Amino acid sequence: MIIDPIKNGIVIDHIQAGKGKAIYDFLELEQLGCSVALIRNVFSKKTGKKDIIKIDEIIDIDFDVLGYLTPSATVSIIKNEKIVDKRKIELPETLKNVIKCKNPRCITSVEQGIEHTFKLVDKENKVYRCIYCESKAND
Ligand code: ZN
Repeated sequence: MIIDPIKNGIVIDHIQAGKGKAIYDFLELEQLGCSVALIRNVFSKKTGKKDIIKIDEIIDIDFDVLGYLTPSATVSIIKNEKIVDKRKIELPETLKNVIKCKNPRCITSVEQGIEHTFKLVDKENKVYRCIYCESKAND
């Protein structure tokens, strides 16, 4: 499969295979007017398979959300067909309003308008806990 090179845009590479669609949905890429390519199950020397997303426009990306969904991804910003910025995405230390606390007695469940905030407590196992009630977040 050949995809035209991007002149100005973003390439999200090294997405965990199978996660591309979730990222596509979470970043609401279907709302964009430009062309967007979601390429699934691309062969990768490192991981066997990966997904790639190419966006023909430079948009704001929430790196925390991306890091939470697929911590191994890289994001390249392309201007005039050259990569001007490349970042490796990592698990964010804090997640704000990305996931919700499921504990019915948690203050975020009882009261309105409180930010759902989680802290990374175990990087290796990707464990987040609610900062209010310490409930574990589940994927
Ligand atoms: Zn909580």
